[in-house]
Amino acid sequence: VNIFAQRLQLQERLTTEIGKALQDCLEPLGVAVMMECRHMCMEMRGVQTTGASTRTQFRCGHFSSPRYWTEFESAVHGDKNSRMPPTATPQTLATTKSTVSCVDPKANDTIGELPSATSMDTSRVATEADNYRLYQSCATNEVEVMTKIIVDFMRGPSLGQKPGLSVLDIGAGNGRLIETIGSKRSIEAYRAFEENGSLSEELKQVVSKLGLNQESCVVLTKTFSEETSIQEAGGQADIVLLSHCLYYSSSKQSFVHHAIKFVAPGGMLFIFHRWNPGETLDSLSSALYDASVLHHMHVFDVLLNLKHLSKEERIRVSKYTNINLSHQCDSTTAMHGCLAIECFSDDTMTNTSISRKVSYEARRKNPHAIVTPGTLTGIQSCLRAAALGTLGSHQVCVVGGGHSANCYADNAIVIDMKRWDHVVVDSLTETVRVGGGATIGAITVECEKYGLVVPLGDRPSVGMGLVLQGGINHLMRWRGLACDNILRVEYVAPSGELQVASSAEELFRFRGAGPSFGVVHEITMKAYKLGEILAQTTDYLLVHHVDLSQVMLRYSEIATNLPDSLCLDGFLYWPSHEALAFATASFDTDGENGPSNIPGIADILPTDFYSSKIQDEPTWCKLSDLFDRELYMTERFHLRNAAVPGEVLPAKLRSLKRCLLFATLDGACGSGLSEIVRSAPTKWAYIHFLHGGGAAGAVEPSESAFGCRNWAFAAVITGRYPDGNQALEMATVCWLNKAVETVMPYAAGVYGADLGPTDYQLAQHAFGDNTRRLALLKRLHDPLNVLSSCCPLLTEERAANILNPSPYKGPRVVIIICGRRFAGKDWLAEAVQKSLARLLGKNGSSKVSIASLSDATKRMYAAENPGVDAARLIHDRQ
Ligand SMILES: Cc1cc2nc3c(=O)[nH]c(=O)nc-3n(C[C@H](O)[C@H](O)[C@H](O)COP(=O)(O)OP(=O)(O)OC[C@H]3O[C@@H](n4cnc5c(N)ncnc54)[C@H](O)[C@@H]3O)c2cc1C
Repeated sequence: VNIFAQRLQLQERLTTEIGKALQDCLEPLGVAVMMECRHMCMEMRGVQTTGASTRTQFRCGHFSSPRYWTEFESAVHGDKNSRMPPTATPQTLATTKSTVSCVDPKANDTIGELPSATSMDTSRVATEADNYRLYQSCATNEVEVMTKIIVDFMRGPSLGQKPGLSVLDIGAGNGRLIETIGSKRSIEAYRAFEENGSLSEELKQVVSKLGLNQESCVVLTKTFSEETSIQEAGGQADIVLLSHCLYYSSSKQSFVHHAIKFVAPGGMLFIFHRWNPGETLDSLSSALYDASVLHHMHVFDVLLNLKHLSKEERIRVSKYTNINLSHQCDSTTAMHGCLAIECFSDDTMTNTSISRKVSYEARRKNPHAIVTPGTLTGIQSCLRAAALGTLGSHQVCVVGGGHSANCYADNAIVIDMKRWDHVVVDSLTETVRVGGGATIGAITVECEKYGLVVPLGDRPSVGMGLVLQGGINHLMRWRGLACDNILRVEYVAPSGELQVASSAEELFRFRGAGPSFGVVHEITMKAYKLGEILAQTTDYLLVHHVDLSQVMLRYSEIATNLPDSLCLDGFLYWPSHEALAFATASFDTDGENGPSNIPGIADILPTDFYSSKIQDEPTWCKLSDLFDRELYMTERFHLRNAAVPGEVLPAKLRSLKRCLLFATLDGACGSGLSEIVRSAPTKWAYIHFLHGGGAAGAVEPSESAFGCRNWAFAAVITGRYPDGNQALEMATVCWLNKAVETVMPYAAGVYGADLGPTDYQLAQHAFGDNTRRLALLKRLHDPLNVLSSCCPLLTEERAANILNPSPYKGPRVVIIICGRRFAGKDWLAEAVQKSLARLLGKNGSSKVSIASLSDATKRMYAAENPGVDAARLIHDRQ
């Protein structure tokens, strides 16, 4: 059976081939073969066929005679009627007869008088009652899980607001799925394809009870194929269910592509496909990846009585499905995997109102798959699949706002959180719940409606990566870093488990190193009452001979002594080829005194430092207005472009950034920083100084992963080069590395947000004294380093070890077998070795070896103990 079952097979052919092989090899007077199999595709299509099995027979020679055949049948099976399950309905037992010709010339030749062709019965017979019940309970569980996924989606952001939904049910079976879905969410239009006449009749009954309008509810007793048109299906639908239809499709990929055309914008295609032994998840999923349609995949477990599975097959099944075979299983049962694959149609992708662009650096990477899960189960599946490597990748990246290079990695599974963009403000508790895919612009605008603000960053499109890694902002002197305001984090852990962090201990790692510990789907943050902010910008065009270190010193001194309610940012940049400029931008959250009343703020530089000065009137504005007023977004900042006659301006500039943290900008540090701008390969480079300290510095370093707190200025060193100019790109990379090297000795730390997974040295400066604690937490919570595409927490050696595990060096179990006299210890050792090896199974990392006393030791023992026979000690091992 094993030999013939290895190839692409049908039960009928398998039966014939076995019979013919026996006939060929043994040349007996007759051969009878009876096969009884369960077909999951048949069972999954409805409860009516559940528990049924298909029996095929092959008979030739003497067994063609009814007498021998009856004897054979009763010997093999006994009286089949006595074995029918009590729960089986007469319909279940209905026998479908079909005759298959098995031309058997050899049998004819050899056996002479026997018929030249044999006939086979293909009949459905019920199996034992206990198996039936076992299967029932598991199938029910699966439908429950599937239903939950679909209902979650129907109630989610895409379709949640729609009063009634349209459903196209392909391969609807007897309607168990639609019956459950229909009871949980209002359905406006339903169209089903079910080729089986009796199932479709039952389906009609089920659907009639859903209370749908008769015209909008059509059950077609026919097959859905690649020829089926959208008109025939009554148009596109919000939910398209493709239930167990892929088995016989010659190209699963094109079948799926065709089905996708039936999905309305904002809708979803759900594919339920049962993985059968021999077909790997990889092969199926890669077909879907190629089509760029894979949305996400759930692997379910169903308990089945699959006696035919060998031990190896069970191990394989358990590996692919992440199921512990010992769970609920006796020795004769095994688990079987099932996939539900959610796909977005290309239309749905492009029509969606939220489109998330990722950074240029991220786009240059080549991920294994990009998925946009809309359910928690989807996120969980991705993490579990990465931990097991079942989708061909061991790494998961997350797209929040997509601003860093770390949201994509080569060969990684990328989870795009764009569908988790909710922002819910609670004005009573002054808190806001935000989805893991929300942007700071959306959060700011929503909070403003309630007169609240959350300390976030300065670009509206930046996402959760900012909050989870720090969040330097204009309100930080007043209310701390963004991460200091996290109250609760809901996330999917690297193991795939749903978890919540709300205590100080649990929140520690999410306040600065969040991306290393989970895929965050919701954060609750503290919000503050704030009306408007008084903002003012001043630009100084510096004279040529100015000592830039003096400019830095003046700025540093004045800014450091300002009250916590006021932030004074600085910019060092080139407004023209001729001269550098220094600009300040003040943000006053307590504008009662006004900036002019604060000594020195209006005029931080003496008049002999600059040739001209432009100063805005201080204006009241909302936090969201500041997004457009950031100096590097203003026209004045880009004046340089217009100032050089005849210069061809690059259509697009790309930028590279590094952010270092300084306690002060005086002396050598100030000189180093100003030299950096002068030596940049292009004059589009600049340094943005964000004024820190205050509340951001008041937090104890040990209270959050963002361990570097003793700084007053964050300096974002930015190099820019024209898009496509590789020489200038390389020069900018080198310049930036050199710049960091130059000023690093004066820095209090490094901002970890934009560090890449191989920046091991800089990462230590980002986490300071917390480095060791975070490394331990990482090993505890993400031992396989699944979330490794961000600022690294492990040492380079440790990370490499996880990728390529070195031979086992850890503790070992030593079993000592001893006895005072007589033989048998070696024999016992071998027996123990065999049993242990069997117990540990195919776990490649465990090895059981025997070490006996050496002959030399035995000789020594014999020499030291009179009367001991050395020869017997060495040779008598019986
Ligand atoms: C134009 C610009 C302006 C900036 N302004 C500021 C600023 O004002 N203040 C400041 O502090 N920083 C600022 N930054 C730096 C910024 O904080 C980082 O680049 C940050 O990593 C971007 O986060 P993101 O979600 O937009 O990016 P992404 O690239 O999507 O994510 C960055 C990292 O966070 C992880 N991540 C994102 N979302 C989740 C999630 N839901 N769950 C788990 N992990 C997640 C990703 O895996 C990735 O490692 C700015 C950057 C740019 C490019």
